[in-house]
Amino acid sequence: MQRERLVIASRNAGKLREIDAILAPLAFEVIPQDALGVDEAPEPHPTFIENALAKARHAAAATGLAALADDSGICVYALAGAPGVHSARYAGEPKSDARNNARLIEALAGIVDRRAHYYCVIVLVRSVDDPQPLIGEGIWRGEVTRAPLGEGGFGYDPWFMLPGLGLTAAQLPAEQKNRVSHRALALAQIAARVQAGWRSAC
Ligand code: IMP
Repeated sequence: MQRERLVIASRNAGKLREIDAILAPLAFEVIPQDALGVDEAPEPHPTFIENALAKARHAAAATGLAALADDSGICVYALAGAPGVHSARYAGEPKSDARNNARLIEALAGIVDRRAHYYCVIVLVRSVDDPQPLIGEGIWRGEVTRAPLGEGGFGYDPWFMLPGLGLTAAQLPAEQKNRVSHRALALAQIAARVQAGWRSAC
């Protein structure tokens, strides 16, 4: 079967692994934008969807290929949804998971309500001016724990407790995270739309 080349507008190794694991079986050749010399797009918008679209368009414009981008983050209820769209740079530049986690734990000091969710929106543009991008979104609910656990995943995962399982996202085997995460849910929607005939619409 001919594999469709799809550029992924992300440099995050953790995300790239997860996206590749889910899309490769759908006959996509998943190419990180770094491998094609595409620089990082700015993410200036206040909503996840606008940032995802900006990143996907940027990669499609630079490569002439179909492009997929996600924008995601952790939204903590007691912090009015922060860090939200600022999750990657919550503790400023340069991006650092360790400093982001430290800032989050400090912000939650003394707060009993630890509920949070991960949110992910994924956009697939077939070309830079695609009028009908494919869009998928997913939410994964949990709580910010009081001590980090686990070595897997990336970002906030060691602190993201799944109450139903009694494990953090960093303790889940990758295959399990890839079945249930916010990104998995969003990608499943994209996959369904791809299988319904992504080239034929419009
Ligand atoms: P983005 O690259 O702007 O979408 O940044 C998303 C940021 O949200 C990441 O750098 C992480 O800090 C956080 N994040 C999103 N998804 C996950 C996940 O699955 N696990 C842990 N952290 C995540």
